[in-house]
Amino acid sequence: MSKPNLARRVAEAAEIALTTRKYVTFIDVVTGLRWLHSRHVDTWRQGRVATLAELAAVDEDRLVTTAALLRDWARAKGLRPVDTPYLAGTRDQRELRFTAGEGQEPFRVHWLSPDLSEARVRRLTEAQSKAPDLVAVSPLDAWTCASCGDTGPYLIMEDDRPHCLTCADMDHLVFLPSGNAALSRRAKQESGLAAVVVRFNRRRKVYQRMGLLVEDAALAAAEERCLADEEVRERRRERDRVRRGEQDVEFQARMAAEIARLFPGCPEERAREIAEHAGQRGSGRVGRSAAAKALDENAITLAVIASIRHLDTDYDGLLMSGVPRMEARERIRNRIEAKLDEFRGPR
Ligand SMILES: [Zn+2]
Repeated sequence: MSKPNLARRVAEAAEIALTTRKYVTFIDVVTGLRWLHSRHVDTWRQGRVATLAELAAVDEDRLVTTAALLRDWARAKGLRPVDTPYLAGTRDQRELRFTAGEGQEPFRVHWLSPDLSEARVRRLTEAQSKAPDLVAVSPLDAWTCASCGDTGPYLIMEDDRPHCLTCADMDHLVFLPSGNAALSRRAKQESGLAAVVVRFNRRRKVYQRMGLLVEDAALAAAEERCLADEEVRERRRERDRVRRGEQDVEFQARMAAEIARLFPGCPEERAREIAEHAGQRGSGRVGRSAAAKALDENAITLAVIASIRHLDTDYDGLLMSGVPRMEARERIRNRIEAKLDEFRGPR
């Protein structure tokens, strides 16, 4: 395609975005030119590729030219440039890269119409600078965790590689399907650590929001607040029934007894919770064949530590604020040791 021809097509794509939204971005133009589909942009925003250019139907040089053409067009129209970072939906919330080359700024710019009201400009800037939701993908295809080599129902990107919830220290979260907006909103508010679950829809070729992963206690609290709603009450009963069915009662009793033996200072109620959590089938925490292994001292201690981490430290808050996992673990180490000592002592 000749450059004047490309300039005309860039202008057409930009004009459409500007008319509908009163601002235009590089992404509007490349999706308008059909070099990238919105699903590619979603994949990139989930932090699953190093650069947006990797997914584009054209090479990086063409993208650089396009950003320059957009800039020329926008300046001629008197649009106002606002440099806007794009953040990944990963825990580190790192800034996303458009290309491997230097100079990401031309791609980041939002070109605002002078007609845009001050209030809308403010809202727009606020929305853009807000940290994106942490995203967990419910994969359609078989996949392997980069850390443990196992698989699981959800994958979360960490250090550019897919991790299972267990390795990401997020397997204490429970899934809340979309469908009840008030409940979802409240559960997310209540939850220190939360992720949005998405799944790719092959037919529609888009990522669809399936629900949220939230803390059990946050979901319970949100349900409390929604309890006037009979439908929610029924759903909760249903969920409890399903969960009870999933639990291996005998295994849990044995594990609770082991916890009491090794950690006599651990309250009974707490020991039961830890055993219940570890005993939930389908969660990938303990398979039946692994039950014996789960009852050895090392495994019991790990389960107790996981519980202390989530209930007695601000570990989840540290993860949510983007602190790298190993650093977060280091910061809470003394607190864990103290709590373990307490649990090891006499009740
Ligand atoms: Zn793993």
